[in-house]
Amino acid sequence: MLRRTSACALAAAAAAALSLAGGLPAASASTTTAPADAAPAAEAATTITYNADQATEYEAEIAAGVQVWNDSVANVQIEEAAPGQRAEITIIATDGWPQATLGPVRPGGSARVEMGSQAVDEGHDVTRIAAHELGHSLGLPDIKPGPCSSLMSGSTAGTSCTNAVPNSAERSRVEQNYGTGALGQVPAAGTMVVDGP
Ligand SMILES: [Zn+2]
Repeated sequence: MLRRTSACALAAAAAAALSLAGGLPAASASTTTAPADAAPAAEAATTITYNADQATEYEAEIAAGVQVWNDSVANVQIEEAAPGQRAEITIIATDGWPQATLGPVRPGGSARVEMGSQAVDEGHDVTRIAAHELGHSLGLPDIKPGPCSSLMSGSTAGTSCTNAVPNSAERSRVEQNYGTGALGQVPAAGTMVVDGP
């Protein structure tokens, strides 16, 4: 009983201290608002997951393509889904032409990327194919024909083109697609974009 009382007394003292502390910080509110002001820059990126279990032969190139995007933009990041976890982007290997669902795919959404061997057999760079198709998932349309410096120019840049990095316009469009502006609210197009001849 005594113990209980003293515990109560301690609690009351603690509450009083908290209440005192609660009154004072109002004056030092500026110290707490500083991080809040800085928050937009450190805004949490949208995270999209992928599963490439059905494209194991392209595992390294897909991982490289994902890394390119993660290094190129801040508003969205792509992570491999944990085993058993549902993925927004399902990547599979096919015998056809590469193709992908036009996004921007959002958390809980669904997009498909097909790593078609026809383009690989023609000699197109596999990491560029992976990054290009992921670009579709992030809401970028094809920009064809175009130069090698453009990721979304795809096969029109020729088989000698190994650039897998989006140019500034492409990066900026993806940032907008996952930003807080109007484009950031646009639902995924959901249509398939086929990168065939
Ligand atoms: Zn394409």
